[in-house]
Amino acid sequence: TVRTRIAPSPTGEPHVGTAYIALFNQCFAKAHGGEFILRIEDTDQSRSTPESEQAILDSLKWLGLDWAEGPDCGGSKGPYRQSERREIYGDYAQQLVDKGHAFHCFCTSERLDELRAEQTANKQHIGYDGHCKHLSKEDVASRIAAGESHVVRMDIPREGICEVQDMLRGQIDIEWAQIDMQILLKADGMPTYHLANVVDDHLMEITHVIRGEEWINSAPKHILLYQYFGWEMPTLCHLPLLRNTDKSKLSKRKNPTGILYYKEMGYLPEALLNYLGRMGWSMPDEREQFTLAEMQEAFDIKRVSLGGPIFDTEKLNWLNGQWIRDLSDDELADKLTEWAFNRDKLMQFLPYAKPRMETFSDLAPLGSYLLSGMLKLSEADFGANKLALEEQMELMQFALWRLEALRQWQRDSIFDTLKTLAGEMDIKLKDFLPPLFVAIAGTTESISVMDSMVLLGPDVSRARLRHAIN
Ligand code: ATP
Ligand code: GLU
Repeated sequence: TVRTRIAPSPTGEPHVGTAYIALFNQCFAKAHGGEFILRIEDTDQSRSTPESEQAILDSLKWLGLDWAEGPDCGGSKGPYRQSERREIYGDYAQQLVDKGHAFHCFCTSERLDELRAEQTANKQHIGYDGHCKHLSKEDVASRIAAGESHVVRMDIPREGICEVQDMLRGQIDIEWAQIDMQILLKADGMPTYHLANVVDDHLMEITHVIRGEEWINSAPKHILLYQYFGWEMPTLCHLPLLRNTDKSKLSKRKNPTGILYYKEMGYLPEALLNYLGRMGWSMPDEREQFTLAEMQEAFDIKRVSLGGPIFDTEKLNWLNGQWIRDLSDDELADKLTEWAFNRDKLMQFLPYAKPRMETFSDLAPLGSYLLSGMLKLSEADFGANKLALEEQMELMQFALWRLEALRQWQRDSIFDTLKTLAGEMDIKLKDFLPPLFVAIAGTTESISVMDSMVLLGPDVSRARLRHAIN
């Protein structure tokens, strides 16, 4: 049976690109009566967080995607979280060393830096030079026994061409000389993406690897690993990456990329999923509006076009409007109540609103910015603040960078971040905060800007800052 997978790394906000790749994997599996599974690739332990994993699962579920096996629902080929499969990879790396396809490498980072500098100076291809490849077995054994830090690297041919077969692109030729002798096992014993990904795709019996085109250049390493292990190679299919309207790769600086942004902004999950289905793909009858079930029914991967699909929020807005108009008034009332007057949200807001209210009718003016999209701002809105406009823009840019890196979106952590930054920039907090108030709430006459950011959530808050700076 056909088995496909999505293999996200839980290192940040759930990305619309992940949902797009997941959607196509699920449709391909369903169209072939197969299974779609979810695996968490968290081998980069310094960047992976449980919160990010949870957010990825929640946001894919919000969109209506589901998987037959995964870390949340189990399955017969588990565990589905790579950090829980550590020993497996060590054993397979050792197999490759034993067969002479991989070797222990003791090179220090200083040596590798020098090598890189030398290769750069000589305009040579940057990559490992095979220094440790020919160490004798005894040498290796004694250095390991002495506790010397080492990694395991895969051997890569230095000549010839790797023929990558891609379901959509046909044959892609890549010279072996371009491919680095990839580290498979890091000094701490954790595998790199390449080893873990291949071992797991094999053990989880994945038949079709459908992923973003950014992985094409990794394909030779994977193909070689399958050969080294003597395993059957899954079919590869590299989907075109999503693009901004200017055709550059979709980036959060030009377009909101977080799935949760679209949830918080009040998009219908069905409409967003429908729109992602339009990314490089069309229904046989070219109709714009369709459900997940309809897409699965009609799915044919050959209909994917390789021109970079443009993720255009204006088109998404139009489509979302269509979906809204198809709802009955009853359904719409339910969904709006859930989104806008959701009790949890209201309860969070009331402690701030109550002391400022004399009548119920004060609620809407106090809270309207929490129910809005991007605020219409002009320079005049920043005019009453003490700092010059340029300074205000600069500090907001710095604040945005810090807030993009912030993992815990809580009042205290936001406050600490901003306070530290204000200190570093030598600006008094009472001058530092007003531009942020304006960007987030449209006015300085609102509840504390940290509280507003918590209520709006990280995606909308960051988007408002970006919007105010632009
Ligand atoms: P970076 O600036 O590091 O490339 P990014 O915006 O690509 O960041 P990541 O966190 O690296 O975001 O990617 C998260 C997931 O989203 C990855 O699985 C990646 O394949 C996918 N992804 C990112 N950008 C795109 C895109 N333009 N099209 C499709 N998928 C994407
Ligand atoms: N963990 C990789 C990612 O985050 C998976 C790539 C693949 O599908 O092989 O995109």
